[in-house]
Amino acid sequence: MKTKTVKIGSKVIGGGNPILIQSMTNTKTEDIAATVAQINKLAAAGCDIIRCAVPTMEAAEALTEIKKQVEIPVVADIHFDYRLAIAAIEHGADKIRINPGNIGSRERVQAVVDAAKERQIPIRVGVNSGSLEKDFLVEKYHGVTAEGIVESALDKVKMIEDMGYDNLVISIKSSDVMMCVKAHELIAEKTDHPLHVGITEAGTIISGNIKSAIGLGLILHQGIGDTIRVSLTGDPLEEIKSAKLILKTLGLRKGGIEVVSCPTCGRTRIDLIGLANQVENMVADIPLDIKVAVMGCVVNGPGEAKEADIGIAGGIGEGLIIKHGEVYKKVPESELLESLRYELLHWNEN
Ligand code: SF4
Repeated sequence: MKTKTVKIGSKVIGGGNPILIQSMTNTKTEDIAATVAQINKLAAAGCDIIRCAVPTMEAAEALTEIKKQVEIPVVADIHFDYRLAIAAIEHGADKIRINPGNIGSRERVQAVVDAAKERQIPIRVGVNSGSLEKDFLVEKYHGVTAEGIVESALDKVKMIEDMGYDNLVISIKSSDVMMCVKAHELIAEKTDHPLHVGITEAGTIISGNIKSAIGLGLILHQGIGDTIRVSLTGDPLEEIKSAKLILKTLGLRKGGIEVVSCPTCGRTRIDLIGLANQVENMVADIPLDIKVAVMGCVVNGPGEAKEADIGIAGGIGEGLIIKHGEVYKKVPESELLESLRYELLHWNEN
């Protein structure tokens, strides 16, 4: 669904632009050196936009220096205190994320909107199923529902539009995957503001990845969503890897090596699990758009790796380098990884 375009620092989202990947720092924003280091690491891994918590005035002030030392747009995440939102804007935030429902009176929201308007920075209106207004939306819909989340978000969007500002991005979140999917389907029909999509509180690496892949997959596959975040209880770098893979799997992003590996079986004679993990790490920074297979045996490996551009298959003490399903070279097992790396680094010379 085509949304309006919104400029976030140097990036443009919405309007059919590529879906951008977001993450959030977990350093103390007041610790400028640690925050800058984490942002730059995430940016190098493929993070397009970063969000930092701004829980104190010191954190808001730190944004000025952080902004000087990073390339990607910085979004300030504010809860409760409208003065922090205004300070974050004054200190160079490229966008602010607020839940108008917890900012306080209309006057306070208006003050934040005026500050954002003055600098023309977008506001992300965030509504979370956990913070739904109990008095009317939970009662009206007999519990927390997708309809209630959507109504709550659109109410807040309308409030800001009525204040004369429509440079907005919406995020509606629920940790209930199917409720989240339904809410996105409903809201996409009712607004053309860009949508930031994510499954909130998705969990640790395994459950977070599964819930996010299913939720984001179902939402993005319908053409809904302009930016995404995979929320994981873990290193934010994992969020970037997962987000890239989700986009790549859906065909929404090109580039980067895709690693496929066999599940191992009774024919496996090498430490394939270790090898597959090593390959995955090794290829992360090689800028090729190809498929690499890591197979556990030399009997079926070459055939099963046929669809990959290049693959390795482990035997007893030696392994094969396979190109497009054909055995290309035999190498000692200890040199398998290094030989694959060599082939990848010289890929374009073939
Ligand atoms: Fe088993 Fe070989 Fe197939 Fe891997 S490639 S699952 S080791 S038969």
